[in-house]
Amino acid sequence: MEMEKITNYIEGKLQASVSSTWIENINPSTGKVYSLITRSNQDDVEIAINAAKEAQAGWANKTVQERSDLMLRLAKLMERDLEKLALAESIDNGKPLQVALSVDIPRAISNINFFATSILHSSGESHQTDNLALNYTLRQPVGICVCISPWNLPLYLFTWKIAPALAAGNVVLAKPSEVTPMTAFLFSKLCIEAGFPAGVLNILHGLGNEVGAAMVAHPLVKAISFTGGTTTGAAIAKVAAPQFKKLSLELGGKNPTLVFNDCSFDKTVSEVARAAFSNQGQICLCGSRILIQDGIYEQFKAAFIEKVKTLKVGNPLDKESNIGAIVSEPHLLKVLSYVELAKSEGGKLLLGGNRIHFQGEVENGYFIEPTIFEKLANNSRVNQEEIFGPVVTLQSFKSTEEAISLANNTQYGLAASVWTENITTAQHVAKTLQMGIVWVNCWMLRDLRTPFGGVKSSGVGREGGWEALKFFTEAKNVCIKY
Ligand code: NDP
Repeated sequence: MEMEKITNYIEGKLQASVSSTWIENINPSTGKVYSLITRSNQDDVEIAINAAKEAQAGWANKTVQERSDLMLRLAKLMERDLEKLALAESIDNGKPLQVALSVDIPRAISNINFFATSILHSSGESHQTDNLALNYTLRQPVGICVCISPWNLPLYLFTWKIAPALAAGNVVLAKPSEVTPMTAFLFSKLCIEAGFPAGVLNILHGLGNEVGAAMVAHPLVKAISFTGGTTTGAAIAKVAAPQFKKLSLELGGKNPTLVFNDCSFDKTVSEVARAAFSNQGQICLCGSRILIQDGIYEQFKAAFIEKVKTLKVGNPLDKESNIGAIVSEPHLLKVLSYVELAKSEGGKLLLGGNRIHFQGEVENGYFIEPTIFEKLANNSRVNQEEIFGPVVTLQSFKSTEEAISLANNTQYGLAASVWTENITTAQHVAKTLQMGIVWVNCWMLRDLRTPFGGVKSSGVGREGGWEALKFFTEAKNVCIKY
């Protein structure tokens, strides 16, 4: 049987790259190639840019109701195909099917619904200048936008960018990670079925440093929304800044989890485990540095280890699996190299640390035991560098100020979670942490209206709600003198 071919969505139709070359797409839970990805290049970008240019005025001039209706139709089709999309996501990424069914795909659908309806309810700004003039702000589409997303939450993060860009009246060139392209491909088929005008959305597949770089560098691209690693973000900024493109960068993290003596113990143990190991630890928001106050350190450590032991690693398609496969072999090797590094930096291994080889269908899959270390200094590489896998460290602290200092002491500043029953401590810590997001007694509780993003090396700009619509529009002040 011929292998499925993942092709581009350009000019409103599916088409292979002009390069006629293909990249192998691997199922991480079997280690086997199961589909082929078209390897796009600069020439495909030119074709997509021309298609976007053609579509630009027509899309921008549609009424918000027309844009909204089309997006809502797309969301309905995604709902119809929820199970199919979730299965594809699980196979392509290695994440448990249950997670794709309950988190990834429902949230991708919410992204489309949210921005499709928010444009119906947003209002503009106006400023009365004494009795001399009225100023009002027009928010107009930026033009051709590029959206680039990573492999960890493939369709979820892909739609998180595309939805506000389209809703605001822009035309888009989008690229998913070549590691997990399948749901973006299925999504492009749904865009065709929904009746999107040709060229409004163009989805290109291929390697980041080839087609991704060509998209970013194209002079007609006015705005770039990127989610991925900090190094890639810096490379993109270098190209985009001299051309004065708008840039939104959502980058890496090394997120602290702060557990205080007075936390609600049992709930905290299980939520901290969820924050650490969800999606195999491959969420930019995962809490991988767990800071525990000394009064409960030993008790918490013991309960946390017991809790993590109950997490079942296994075939992502198995309903019982809490933890699936690592996304790719290179990433598996990277994560395992950090386990060795942790040992060489003096870490004490409390749990896990090994690759798992199962029998049967998933015998060659990329599975790792959830891994816990302690006794690593805060300035060790393991506590400073993003591992992006199921490896966490425990550290103890005495005072609130020491916890804040440990938490802030990395180059990153994406998210933190704080576990205490004392509202004064919670507010003080939330205010003082150098992070874009602080959760108190919860983790990854999302509201699409809130600003989302990081500080320091975790990024520039904010996504979500009004922030995203602001990013994807240009503000124009109109001043009318009386
Ligand atoms: P990468 O930075 O390697 O890749 C992200 C995307 O950029 C991929 O689509 C990739 O394509 C593409 N890309 C790579 N090089 C270039 C380039 N030179 N020009 C344009 N595009 C390029 O990140 P990963 O996919 O490995 O994702 C993991 C990272 O993403 C982690 O650091 C994680 O913290 C971060 N992340 C941040 C989030 C946030 O909101 N702050 C959320 C989720 C993840 P390809 O893969 O095809 O090469």
